[in-house]
Amino acid sequence: MKRLLVIIDGMEDLPYPELDGKTPLSFASSLQKARLLPPISHTPPGREPDSLACILFMLGAPPHSIPHGRAFVEAAAHGIHMREEDLAMRLNAVGVENGILVKNGVDTNVSTNIGADVSAPFEIRKLDGYRHILIAPGGKKYADTLVTFAPHQNIGRPVRELTCAGNDLGLALKEMTLALLQRYENTTYMPWSPSVYVPLPSFREVSGLCGAVVARADVVIGIARLMGMDDYIPEGATGDVDTQLAAKTEAALACVSRYDFTLLHINGADEASHRKKPREKALFIQRIDREVLEPLLRHLPPGCELTVTSDHASLCQTGAHGTMKVSRFLWMR
Ligand SMILES: [Zn+2]
Repeated sequence: MKRLLVIIDGMEDLPYPELDGKTPLSFASSLQKARLLPPISHTPPGREPDSLACILFMLGAPPHSIPHGRAFVEAAAHGIHMREEDLAMRLNAVGVENGILVKNGVDTNVSTNIGADVSAPFEIRKLDGYRHILIAPGGKKYADTLVTFAPHQNIGRPVRELTCAGNDLGLALKEMTLALLQRYENTTYMPWSPSVYVPLPSFREVSGLCGAVVARADVVIGIARLMGMDDYIPEGATGDVDTQLAAKTEAALACVSRYDFTLLHINGADEASHRKKPREKALFIQRIDREVLEPLLRHLPPGCELTVTSDHASLCQTGAHGTMKVSRFLWMR
């Protein structure tokens, strides 16, 4: 039997007045007509709900094998080689005014050359927009005592209070942040979310199946590569609400014909939740209905099981992930 799992990232949510008192899902989707399974939590025991932990858990990775930081997973998505003794970190270009952190995420030209700007022995790779990966060679031994600050959680605080600390690596990273601030005045780079390389189990080993992933989000592509699954990034996929859903549907259908198991990951609903936009989220789910679920139900081969769920809840009310259970829908073709 073929299996297709569609993860609508952060789909589960609360009801909102602007959606006539409905949740984005119930406002927008005909999913209610499908066979509904009991709600479930995909969050591994003792972990916070985030895509890395939840999707790995859904793919059958044992909880103890699920890493905490995601930078090394995103590095894998970009083909960045990391050794076991290295440390990977997220590195955000941030906006600064009068020494105060005012904006997380500045897409500037200086960031494209940041690797060349830094005299410290870090490998820095721009991912997209303001996001970078920093690899500290031999940095694993500093991981446990390194102190970092997430830029998006510290807007309004002095940058000098938010530089890395805790050990020699923290000191080198602090010098980098301050030197770049001196050079660019209103922009600097903040490393955060350190992660060490953790071997992930192969998908074939945990499931006995040959699997493929259709996605655009780095964390999902990285999961696929580290678990030995084939990955497909359809043209026009953006990881947000402006994505080309039809291209994703087509890629998923092609995978179903070739693999036992296909994961189709759709990210935009989570992004709309972080922006606290219930209407944007509902309209995107409406598009998923039309451009993904309807064609899938028309074209999936007989004997195929289709499951639609979300990895975790994302709440437009708070702009953060939620801990409530998520809906699951099942069709047998
Ligand atoms: Zn999220």
